[in-house]
Amino acid sequence: MQLYLYNTLTRKKEAFKPIEDKKVGLYTCGPTVYNFAHIGNLRTFIFEDILKRALLYNGYRVKHIMNITDVGHLTGDRDMGEDKMEKGAQREGKTAWEIAESYTRAFKQDMTHLNIMEPSLWCKATDSIPEQIELIKTLEEKGFTYNISDGIYFDTSKFEGYTKLSSQNLEALQEGARVEKNPEKRNATDFALWKFSPDGVKRQMEWDSPWGVGFPGWHIECSAMSMKFLRDQLDIHCGGVDHIDVHHTNEIAQSEAATGKKFFNFWMHGAFLIISGGKKMAKSEGNFLTLDSTFIQNGIEPLVYRFATYQTHYRKPMEYSEEAVQAARNGLEHLRNQVRSLMSKGMVDTASVNDEYKQKFIKRLNDDLNMPRALASVQEALKSDMDDSEKLATVLDFDRVLGLDLEKVTVSEELPENIQQKIDARKKARAEKNWVLSDQLRDEIQALGYVVQDVKDGMTVFKK
Ligand code: AMP
Ligand code: ZN
Repeated sequence: MQLYLYNTLTRKKEAFKPIEDKKVGLYTCGPTVYNFAHIGNLRTFIFEDILKRALLYNGYRVKHIMNITDVGHLTGDRDMGEDKMEKGAQREGKTAWEIAESYTRAFKQDMTHLNIMEPSLWCKATDSIPEQIELIKTLEEKGFTYNISDGIYFDTSKFEGYTKLSSQNLEALQEGARVEKNPEKRNATDFALWKFSPDGVKRQMEWDSPWGVGFPGWHIECSAMSMKFLRDQLDIHCGGVDHIDVHHTNEIAQSEAATGKKFFNFWMHGAFLIISGGKKMAKSEGNFLTLDSTFIQNGIEPLVYRFATYQTHYRKPMEYSEEAVQAARNGLEHLRNQVRSLMSKGMVDTASVNDEYKQKFIKRLNDDLNMPRALASVQEALKSDMDDSEKLATVLDFDRVLGLDLEKVTVSEELPENIQQKIDARKKARAEKNWVLSDQLRDEIQALGYVVQDVKDGMTVFKK
């Protein structure tokens, strides 16, 4: 079935077609690792994960690259202010490298908690400095750059179609940006490709370059690394809506100026998570909510947040509230109970996925990832009159996209201690590949009136 995606570049829903048949190159702008990711950031990463899962569900192979911004992102998007990494390092009395490492680790842990699939490749900006320098050299050779006292800049007036992604009014933008404009810049929208380390200051992160010691501007990393790792497979590039006006607009300008070719066919953007009063949740506000503080520490499992995000289409702002979390908690528990009840009836291994309901689910998913409606088809399948094994097989198949670990549903909380001990012993036996003991324990558990099913990454056990 055809997949339709909203393309910010053309401002319409389009039939998705990759450059190469059945292979998709996907680049998602990753986190800036000077602090924890907040649940707003994570909303965008969940949307991108749904996109990737939808592509896989549709039979595509996906090469997914995610970068880690560990240098060059200044506190002001227009190349003013301090370096976020060095600022984070000062705040915590650590080095910028240590900060980057610890928040990258924290981010990857958030991803695991939310069942966000790992990219095919992670890439750190600091690991691709030579490629960024090469790209700036090409831009210089082609006459798109100029040199001012604090760095090398891209002259946006030389790139026709600078506003094609954002459709901003350039004149109004020039006017509005006058206040923060660096007086040496030729145009308000011009942006740094390379910033010089200030005189007499030894930065923690700095490199030699043909223009002097310094560090790359924020946007150049994503251009250099997407071309380095995806080569010509530039199918889809994603981020949050705040990337449209500056970061992605600048990526397009510098990449297309350098190569003379189109840079990515599809641009997709996730809307904000907002807090009451309509304010965007932002790291720079300093009062943001993390997965750990808001969910884990309150005994709420992170997948509740994943489930909560399905209630709103990814292109609509989602308002965070405790009530919404509670509703998602109940909704997920209800879904799990439905699956648990089906499992307790015993699953027939050969049961197949119901095609009619699968078509309904995929149609909604393929309508620009309409998760609220896709979720409704899960309930429709569960309430249908198909037989229980088929129902279970169908819903577990949908979970390849939902990522809610429905297959791992257990009733372990309610298990008596002697059964739990046998389960633990069996898990250990399986980890040690002691299949004889594992089988023996399964028989013992079953003799006590419980069903044992081995599923991917674990087992489910419930009363017969
Ligand atoms: P950052 O770590 O700040 O570079 O942001 C990581 C991702 O989160 C980017 O794709 C941003 O566009 C996105 N983002 C930032 N704030 C929000 C928010 N409040 N809601 C949803 N996504 C956001
Ligand atoms: Zn980026």
